[in-house]
Amino acid sequence: MPELPEVETTLRGLSPHLGGQKIKQVVIRNPQLRWPIPQNLPEILPGLRIHKLERRAKYLLLDCGSGTLILHLGMSGSLRILPAHTPAEKHDHFDLLLANGTLMRLRDPRRFGAVLWHQNQTENSSDIAQHPLLASLGPEPLLPAFDADYLYRATRKRSAAIKQVIMDSHVVVGVGNIYASESLFHAAIRPQLAANKLSLPRCAKLVQTIRDTLTASIAQGGSTLRDFTGSDGKPGYFQQSYFAYGRSGEPCRNCGTTIKQIVQGQRSTFYCPRCQK
Ligand SMILES: [Zn+2]
Repeated sequence: MPELPEVETTLRGLSPHLGGQKIKQVVIRNPQLRWPIPQNLPEILPGLRIHKLERRAKYLLLDCGSGTLILHLGMSGSLRILPAHTPAEKHDHFDLLLANGTLMRLRDPRRFGAVLWHQNQTENSSDIAQHPLLASLGPEPLLPAFDADYLYRATRKRSAAIKQVIMDSHVVVGVGNIYASESLFHAAIRPQLAANKLSLPRCAKLVQTIRDTLTASIAQGGSTLRDFTGSDGKPGYFQQSYFAYGRSGEPCRNCGTTIKQIVQGQRSTFYCPRCQK
């Protein structure tokens, strides 16, 4: 599943191709994604210019001046840059064709992704942040608003397990299952610990390991950027070596103790019972 690092890598891969370009044509082959693709996009978008591309949580936002095109990759989506007239394949549900001949194509076999349009209420000023999908989201994990003081305050009234709290997008966005397990391992925090038991120094440590884990993954994704312009049909997601995630029964890379697997909120959690307290 595309997580924040994959979406950030997608953003960086797409930006040079889409930024500043004018939209020529929209093709919707199958509108039935997580929500239906608006049927009027082929009338709204042509002629608009993509001013900039941004990411908020796992949403890609294409600011087109009068409004914003919102893209989400869902469980299996990928976006690629292709030459115009590249024949569409089975799961290629949505195309954005640019005036310069570039084609951006959404492939999404499981169709949990999204293509939505937000029309700004006032001219020349984007109010995309007020969109219902974005308005209640917590801070971005890589921006300064997510710091030790913030996490400490956000966890005081939460007796739920810290792993589930950092995966709550109202607390902080983009910390998926893999990154939660890995960040907690590197912060030496047991995933089951009640969030409100975390001291301020441990909050600071966790903020840092969340940032480091995501940043490392984004850096690794940089080497897969070529996939976004390839035509081999493979999305540019990347595997990496983990310390806890997926290592149930294997020795901890720090101390050799067997990594344990438990289930929290229907998701698998991996941790070292010796290193993480
Ligand atoms: Zn260990």
